[in-house]
Amino acid sequence: MAAPLTPQFGGARRRLIEELRGKGISDLAVLRALDLTPRHQFVPSGVRHRAYEDAPLPIGSGQTISQPFVHALYLQTLRLQGTEKVLEIGTGSGYQTALLAQLCRHVYSVERIRPLLETARDAITECGVTNVSLLCGDGTYGWPEFAPYDAILVGAGAPEIPQPLVEQLAVGGRLLVPIGGRDDQRLVEIARTADGTEQREISDVRFVPLVGRHGWEAT
Ligand code: SAH
Repeated sequence: MAAPLTPQFGGARRRLIEELRGKGISDLAVLRALDLTPRHQFVPSGVRHRAYEDAPLPIGSGQTISQPFVHALYLQTLRLQGTEKVLEIGTGSGYQTALLAQLCRHVYSVERIRPLLETARDAITECGVTNVSLLCGDGTYGWPEFAPYDAILVGAGAPEIPQPLVEQLAVGGRLLVPIGGRDDQRLVEIARTADGTEQREISDVRFVPLVGRHGWEAT
């Protein structure tokens, strides 16, 4: 679990949470996780002063930490109860990994860029979160060893739904994945039912590309 709030940035974090409430985030468990998680420890020192803006920020290797509203939207959509096994594709900064860890039983998270994964590992450990397993690799294959998952979140945009991820969903489980072009996508929710899958669109989003066998080719 996250360490108690550091006084540093506490006011800025509370203002961000008020901003997110104003934008429609009302799930108390999600707001609490945001309150307990020091986003400034998940961004490079050069942009730390902007950590509590509701904006994406560069994290190195050409990648970004997503806008807090987008993380909150994913988490509010999932309505986690605290008992779930969750797979995250695209660890990035590790911030969403740490948020998820407070809302479910265990998070499995896959990142393809090793330096990002190692920085994320340090940040996650530093804020006291322990129910997380990290893997360096192509997350479009999922992480079959620990499947099935109650929820799968993809934090990068795919040209189409990566089938291995659908196959690794438990019945009753849900996959959230941005689908569309390289620069903008629709966030899609795929629910696995006893008979097949059901799909609905949540909103417009902008993510970096999901690069891999069941995603985009590297440029
Ligand atoms: N939720 C993260 C999002 C980071 S950006 C955050 O807010 O920090 C998306 C991440 O997905 C990048 O770090 C990128 O390297 C990673 N990624 C892209 N394709 C991937 C793939 N096939 N497997 C695993 N990670 C991938």
